[in-house]
Amino acid sequence: MAKPKAPRRTLDSYTVKPINRTVKAGDCVLMRPSDQGKPSYVARIERIEADSRGANVKVHVRWYYRPEESLGGRRQFHGSKEVFLSDHYDVQSADTIEGKCTVHSFKSYTKLDAVGNDDFFCRFEYNSSTGAFNPDRVAVYCKCEMPYNPDDLMVQCEGCSDWFHPACIEMTPEEAKRLDHFFCEGCSSEGQKKLQNSHNASRNSDTKHKHYVSGGYKTASEVNFKSKRSGDLELQWWKLVVLPRV
Ligand SMILES: [Zn+2]
Ligand SMILES: [Zn+2]
Repeated sequence: MAKPKAPRRTLDSYTVKPINRTVKAGDCVLMRPSDQGKPSYVARIERIEADSRGANVKVHVRWYYRPEESLGGRRQFHGSKEVFLSDHYDVQSADTIEGKCTVHSFKSYTKLDAVGNDDFFCRFEYNSSTGAFNPDRVAVYCKCEMPYNPDDLMVQCEGCSDWFHPACIEMTPEEAKRLDHFFCEGCSSEGQKKLQNSHNASRNSDTKHKHYVSGGYKTASEVNFKSKRSGDLELQWWKLVVLPRV
């Protein structure tokens, strides 16, 4: 007859010796993948438990999937540090924890001054059996009508407020960064007119490169750009797409 299993107990925290870091429920961690060539798994600790002697420590985790691990695979709009909070729970040995990491909300990720190795972001929950995402709708931008990838630079049209990839408006990122004003194709005739007026209004200004725009002076550096180092995009509700199911 098998010996009755010793009761296991829940630990408030656990120090992972090799990395000398203390983890607790709610922390996000990197875990050693079964396949050594793969990047570390990203998980959120739900619970930590040990046997009655405090040994054989196991972590109950909820996996984050990387885009390439999802049924639909990585798409162009997925950021390099994007992960999806899955419905896939697991129990792993605490010894497979390689380090701690931070999974930011999309908004806070786009506001980071610098993105470190341990920074990730999550904007979707992912159903690992159906491949469905929640939310299943996402705002799209630019002529290419793509959701925002925070790794990509975008420039905002002063007319319609939509955002554009430099490549989609036949510019290099460097050219886009040097823009003083930007009006998209659809807004450009109107935009030119407005610009003309603003030039006239500031004709007597001693600074040639400043243009009067909506009540204030705006220099080239103030033209709105988006990359992961600046704020998030405003949600444009009229341009939402439903993510395809796999
Ligand atoms: Zn585009
Ligand atoms: Zn426009």
